Amino acid sequence: MQKKPELLAPAGNFEKMRMAILYGADAVYLGGKSFGLRALGGNFDREELREAVTYAHEHGKKVYVTVNIFPHNADLASLPDYLLYLNKIHVDALLVADLGVFSFCRTWIPNMEIHISTQANNTNWATVNAWKDLGAKRVVLAREMSMEEIRTIRKKCDVDLELFVHGAMCISYSGRCLLSNYFTGRDSNRGNCAQSCRWKYSLVEETRPGKYFPIEEDERGTYIMNSKDMCLLSYLSDVIETGVNSLKIEGRMKSIHYVASVVRTYRSAIDAYYKDPAHFTVRQEWIEELGKVSHRPYTTGFYFHKPTEKDQLYGNSSYEQSSDFVGLVLAYDTTSGYATVEQRNNMKVGQKIEFFQPHGELFHQTLADMRDEDGASIDIAPHPQQIIRIHMEHPVEPYTILRRNLTIGL
Ligand code: SF4
Repeated sequence: MQKKPELLAPAGNFEKMRMAILYGADAVYLGGKSFGLRALGGNFDREELREAVTYAHEHGKKVYVTVNIFPHNADLASLPDYLLYLNKIHVDALLVADLGVFSFCRTWIPNMEIHISTQANNTNWATVNAWKDLGAKRVVLAREMSMEEIRTIRKKCDVDLELFVHGAMCISYSGRCLLSNYFTGRDSNRGNCAQSCRWKYSLVEETRPGKYFPIEEDERGTYIMNSKDMCLLSYLSDVIETGVNSLKIEGRMKSIHYVASVVRTYRSAIDAYYKDPAHFTVRQEWIEELGKVSHRPYTTGFYFHKPTEKDQLYGNSSYEQSSDFVGLVLAYDTTSGYATVEQRNNMKVGQKIEFFQPHGELFHQTLADMRDEDGASIDIAPHPQQIIRIHMEHPVEPYTILRRNLTIGL
């Protein structure tokens, strides 16, 4: 049997990292304030990076830091100092896309494990082996690859392989896109992409300024470059059997609800496969769980065939979700039976709430006894991030997500 692959989760900030780890990730990837893509994704300053590594290691998990921009000359001066710092705080690996950055890593911190980022567009076995020969420990495969190509690379390459299994797709080869640069001046290769591919586009004829012709005959307009999100959960056994070493979830900009839900779902599915591979089936509850968080409709990307119009979203660029994240359990007092909850969206007495826990079973409870911080009974928690106390019918784990079902009006 294949060795169990690592489940690798995004961590846009400390709170998201904690959720990823508590809900079952084996490792997280995150960015510092400099030298990483996703400049708007929160990111960690030097002290926060140190705290993140300490927290993850205390929980037996790994931290990979992205150093995957394509730097210009002026960016290089401060790079060695940053690399030495990452080495000093015992980061487990760096994600690198640029050959110059790679060579700085080999020179300044030769013992640091280097993973080659998807931004390097690793699409064939010769590239993967070349990176291995240069000293890379792992190569992140391009999202634009079929299962057959991945199998071939696995056969020909003796180096760790990492594969995206879930999250947003770039409409171009990852990182090879200047839409955002042209339209907004924000550089997608320096972590500042404005997601211009998701905008609504029309055709304009030069002598008819202001007259916009839709590219498809559809009154809703045309989002010609708006890809659906990737989801390989339904094909998890095929994915595992390719022999890749790490399954990666995309989404450092996503919410803690998203991170918790997607990580726990893939954790449950991977563990179920390894318990009994011969009888493994994808459970309906896992598919439903991935529909509860904000996402675009799902696609399998390039995994089985080149994407067609069915893998695009021409009609709109909006997200869908079947549940609303309304609160986060901070603590539970076994003596009184009250949970201390941070409100994230309004809740009122009489509403049926779903409790999605890091480890235990999901359960429902109708809100009956809700109190403010002073212990006064309240019917509604209207203030953002208000601290409230809820009397529980069952014990509940810290960092449990509270949510409301949007589809059946619970
Ligand atoms: S604009 Fe779209 S395709 Fe281009 S880099 Fe940004 S997310 Fe990717």
